[in-house]
Amino acid sequence: MINLKTWEVVVMDLRNCTKCGRAFAFTGLDVCSRCSTDDEADFRKVKEYLYDHPGATVTEVSEETGVSERQILRYLRESRIEIREENNCLLHCERCDKSIRSGRFCDECAAALKKEFKSVLKPPTVKEAEVKQKDRTGTKMHIVEMRKK
Ligand SMILES: [Zn+2]
Ligand SMILES: [Zn+2]
Repeated sequence: MINLKTWEVVVMDLRNCTKCGRAFAFTGLDVCSRCSTDDEADFRKVKEYLYDHPGATVTEVSEETGVSERQILRYLRESRIEIREENNCLLHCERCDKSIRSGRFCDECAAALKKEFKSVLKPPTVKEAEVKQKDRTGTKMHIVEMRKK
């Protein structure tokens, strides 16, 4: 009798976990399985806090729930939560920079992008909105003192 070994080739879509940075097999989530458990718990905290305090700012939510602002912003980008305030400057459309309440693009750009996706197969490179949100004046200049002998 001959034993035939079958080899299964599993093609994995490896991604870096947005939380811990570890490479993991992509399953539809931005975080690895280890972090997704924590992430769900954090998300629940944020959601519950927002239920009680609908007008809360990200800073406030972060301070009260212990969930990092970066994580809260990710929930916003993933359209899992929404900020009700009209004039929040937390999220910007990644295409035209207009302030938006959730997701990554404003309605106009989302519609325009949909058209573009249809005509061009290659998606446009999109810069992380987070970079724009970083404080530009926060860059510190260092003066290197030369020591004289
Ligand atoms: Zn992780
Ligand atoms: Zn836009």
